[in-house]
Amino acid sequence: MPSRISGWGRYPWIEAQIAVADTTSAARKHLLAWPDCIARGAGKSYGDSALSQNVLQMTPLNRILAFDADRGEVVCEAGVGLDKLIDAFLPKGFFLSVTPGTKQITVGGAIASDVHGKNHHRCGCFSTCVNWIDLMSAAGEIIRCSPQQHPEIFQATCGGMGLTGIILAAALRLQPIKSAWIDQKTIYCRDLDAVLAAFDEFADMPYSVAWIDCLAKGACLGRSVLMVGEHAGCGGLSLPEKPTATIPFSFPNGALNSASIRLFNTAYAWVHRRHAGESRVSLDQFFYPLDGIANWNRMYGNRGFLQYQFVLPRSGGADGLLAILSAIAGMGMGSFLAVLKLFGPANRNFLSFPMDGYTLALDFGIQPGLLPFLDRLDRLVARFGGRIYLTKDVRMAPWMLKEGYPLLDRFLQVKRSIDPHNRFRSLQSNRLEIA
Ligand SMILES: Cc1cc2nc3c(=O)[nH]c(=O)nc-3n(C[C@H](O)[C@H](O)[C@H](O)COP(=O)(O)OP(=O)(O)OC[C@H]3O[C@@H](n4cnc5c(N)ncnc54)[C@H](O)[C@@H]3O)c2cc1C
Repeated sequence: MPSRISGWGRYPWIEAQIAVADTTSAARKHLLAWPDCIARGAGKSYGDSALSQNVLQMTPLNRILAFDADRGEVVCEAGVGLDKLIDAFLPKGFFLSVTPGTKQITVGGAIASDVHGKNHHRCGCFSTCVNWIDLMSAAGEIIRCSPQQHPEIFQATCGGMGLTGIILAAALRLQPIKSAWIDQKTIYCRDLDAVLAAFDEFADMPYSVAWIDCLAKGACLGRSVLMVGEHAGCGGLSLPEKPTATIPFSFPNGALNSASIRLFNTAYAWVHRRHAGESRVSLDQFFYPLDGIANWNRMYGNRGFLQYQFVLPRSGGADGLLAILSAIAGMGMGSFLAVLKLFGPANRNFLSFPMDGYTLALDFGIQPGLLPFLDRLDRLVARFGGRIYLTKDVRMAPWMLKEGYPLLDRFLQVKRSIDPHNRFRSLQSNRLEIA
């Protein structure tokens, strides 16, 4: 029976046939029976990348298969959640080498999006810590790929949004750590120049991220709070128990409007200005603040929301950010969550998002006028040589993908060689004409 599903942004919703991949042979059976399909992990990508009429649910394939403490290498199935890896290995003194802002995602989803964390400027994307991947091709064969073995398939699969095949299992390198705590420093930055200078000043810190008030105008444009951190050397390896709050129902449409966002932003900036300085916070508080509020995506109402995340190259990036923030403040289209990060160099994967420069992620409730406004921002992003993150995307046009991803043709060559009939498809890949 078809089920109604969406991405994390709850826009769009579709009816889909969902099959459970609880074994490798079940995955193969469904793959070969369907004309096309897409794999789905925890459904935490915002847009339409894990949506299709036939969806293979990968979360039941969730066993940790082996661990080599000398090498810090864990072998696991692709449906394992990052939270399960943390629960299993933090007490042994190991943590993920790269983690996004939620631990409620799967290893398959992390590889397919080649996710980045607060340490991209030092460590790169998730693929940096992937030793190998077992991938099921459109023909049902299992291909082991790595930077050494079938390197082009590896480069197409990391960041390839599930379009090269089904990731069944992977070997990951974890980093050794001494504590479940992070030593954090909070720096209040009065405008955009100040926060970009602060990113450079603290570039040696392993982790950094800034919250930016995207409604601030004039002399305050780019007003931000930068948080930098490093693993503490003591404090123990267990995480403190933390209650989870829940948003029990969808807020009324429009409850998060520019007035409420302006109020929140002003209060947030004021509090952090007063409490700037050093503190010790748990890994959960530092990396996953939003995981403490279950179903927070309901705050945007039944119309849903999207995240617009772009990256601009360092050269000209500051001017580009200025132009884009001015456009947002001018439209009054405030974002509740606006996160700025500094990226290090791009990797060799064909569709990985990061490049040396600045990335800004903005959440917008779906509302009249939003999509044409984002088309306008796309043109600015393209003019400044940037690109849009596929795992957050739900609306960009094919020209913007081609403009931003110069290695798209190499990706397509590999996809066509292992998926000649384009059996791995999503709403996103159809919209973006990735075939
Ligand atoms: C609160 C929050 C914070 C976030 N912070 C960050 C961040 O800091 N950095 C960042 O990079 N991202 C971030 N994200 C995005 C998130 O990390 C990615 O969207 C991730 O891919 C979601 O994984 P998932 O398991 O939910 O995959 P899904 O959303 O289910 O799928 C995402 C993609 O992966 C593919 N896929 C999933 N499993 C497989 C598999 N086994 N084989 C092949 N393809 C597969 C799907 O086809 C789809 O294309 C954040 C998301 C949220 C909700």
